[in-house]
Amino acid sequence: MRVLILGAGFGGLELASTLSTELGPDADVVLIDQADGFVFGFSKLDVMFGRVPADHVRHAYADLAHPGVRFVQTTIRSIDPITKRVGTDDGDFDADVLVVALGADLHPDATPGLVEHGHEFYTVAGAFALREALADFSGRAVIAVTSTPFKCPPAPSETALLLHDQLRRRGLLDVSSVSLVMPLGVPIPPSPDASTALLAEFEARGIAWYPGTLVRSVEAGRALLSDGTDLPFDLLLAVPVHRAPTVVVESGLTVDGWIPVDSLTLRTRFENVYAVGDVTSVGTPKAGAFAEGQAAVVAAQLIAHARGEVSTAAYEGRGICYLEFGEDQVATVEVTFMSGQAPSGALVGPSRELAEAKTRFGAERIERWFGREWTPLG
Ligand SMILES: Cc1cc2nc3c(=O)[nH]c(=O)nc-3n(C[C@H](O)[C@H](O)[C@H](O)COP(=O)(O)OP(=O)(O)OC[C@H]3O[C@@H](n4cnc5c(N)ncnc54)[C@H](O)[C@@H]3O)c2cc1C
Repeated sequence: MRVLILGAGFGGLELASTLSTELGPDADVVLIDQADGFVFGFSKLDVMFGRVPADHVRHAYADLAHPGVRFVQTTIRSIDPITKRVGTDDGDFDADVLVVALGADLHPDATPGLVEHGHEFYTVAGAFALREALADFSGRAVIAVTSTPFKCPPAPSETALLLHDQLRRRGLLDVSSVSLVMPLGVPIPPSPDASTALLAEFEARGIAWYPGTLVRSVEAGRALLSDGTDLPFDLLLAVPVHRAPTVVVESGLTVDGWIPVDSLTLRTRFENVYAVGDVTSVGTPKAGAFAEGQAAVVAAQLIAHARGEVSTAAYEGRGICYLEFGEDQVATVEVTFMSGQAPSGALVGPSRELAEAKTRFGAERIERWFGREWTPLG
C-alpha cells in the first residue's frame, strides 16, 4: 500500500514517523515537501526575539532517516483525488492512499499596504527578518490580525507579551507602547481562565487591547481597522491572510476554502484520501498540536489496514497549547473540541516548570521525527 503524504510539517512528519515506527521498511511512504527543512511555529518567535540564532531552529529534511519513508523535496502542482495522482516539479507520483497535510499558505499581499508599510511575523522569512528590526526598536508597536481563521490563536498575545519583555529589558517602556488588535472578543475563547489571565497581564503591563476588530488595510504609519477607526504605529507586526494552498483549492478537495473531513476519521469525501492539520475545516484551531493528533488517528487507521485489522481509532479533538506569558513563564491550555459541544479549555500555570515542559515538547518531537537531540532554546 503506497502512502503519499503531501506536506512534511507538523502533521506530515508525525504521520510519516509513526508509520515507519510501526511498519518499518514495509511502510512504503513517500513524503513530499517543497521546503528544505521544518521550523516549529514557536521557534519563529524565539528567533524574532533574539533568543536563538536562525540556524538553530531549522531541521533539515535531508536528516530524515525513517525506514520505509522516502522524502522528496519538490513543489506539488496538481492533486487528483480520484486517481490519487500527484503532479510535481519532479514528475508524477501515484498512490493507494493520499494524505493532504499542506497547511495554510500566508498572503501578506492580500492586505492593501501591508507589504509596503508593515511587517508580518507568521512566515519563516518574515519572522526571521524582524529580529533585526526589533533589536533596535522603540516607539509604538501594533500587533494585529488581518483575517480569520489564523494559526495558533494565542501567538499574537504571546508576541505582545514577549515584545513588552524585550522593551522592558532594554529600558524603553517609557518611550514605547504595545497594542494588540484581535478579531476575537477575548484572547482565547475556548478558555475563559486563560483569557482572564491574559487580559489581566495586558492591563498590568499597559498593553492596549483592541478586541473584535481586524486590520483591513495599511498606510504609512497607520493601520485602518474593520470597525472604521485607525491606529497609528511606528512598527506593525501583522498576522497575514491565511488560505489553503492554491494546488489544494484547484484539486476540488475544498469547500469554502478548506478541506472538509469526517471529524472522527479525517477522511475526505474521496475514497482513500485523508486530510490533516491547518488545510482542513475539521473545527479545531489551526495549531500543530491538533495537526499531530489528527495525524495519529490517520496513522492508526493505515496501520490497522496494513495488518488486516479493523481500526477503532477516532479523533477526539484534543490538544495542549503552550502559552508564553513572557519573563520565562509558560502556561498550558488543554482544549477539547467535540462536535456538538462547546469547546472547553483549562489553564494551568504560568510557571517556570511549564516552560521546561514546553522545551521537552519540542525536544521529543525532534527526537521522534529527526532522530536527534535538540532543545528549542539551545
Ligand atoms: C508564530 C507562530 C507560533 C506558533 N506556535 C505554535 C505552538 O506553540 N503550538 C502549536 O501547536 N502550533 C503553533 N503554531 C501553529 C503551527 O505552526 C501550525 O498550525 C502547524 O505547523 C500546522 O501543521 P500542518 O501539518 O497542518 O501544516 P504545516 O506545518 O504548515 O506544514 C505544511 C507543509 O506543506 C508544505 N507545502 C505547502 N504547499 C506545498 C506545495 N505546493 N508543494 C510542496 N509542499 C508544500 C509546506 O512547505 C509545509 O512544510 C504557530 C504558528 C505560528 C505562525
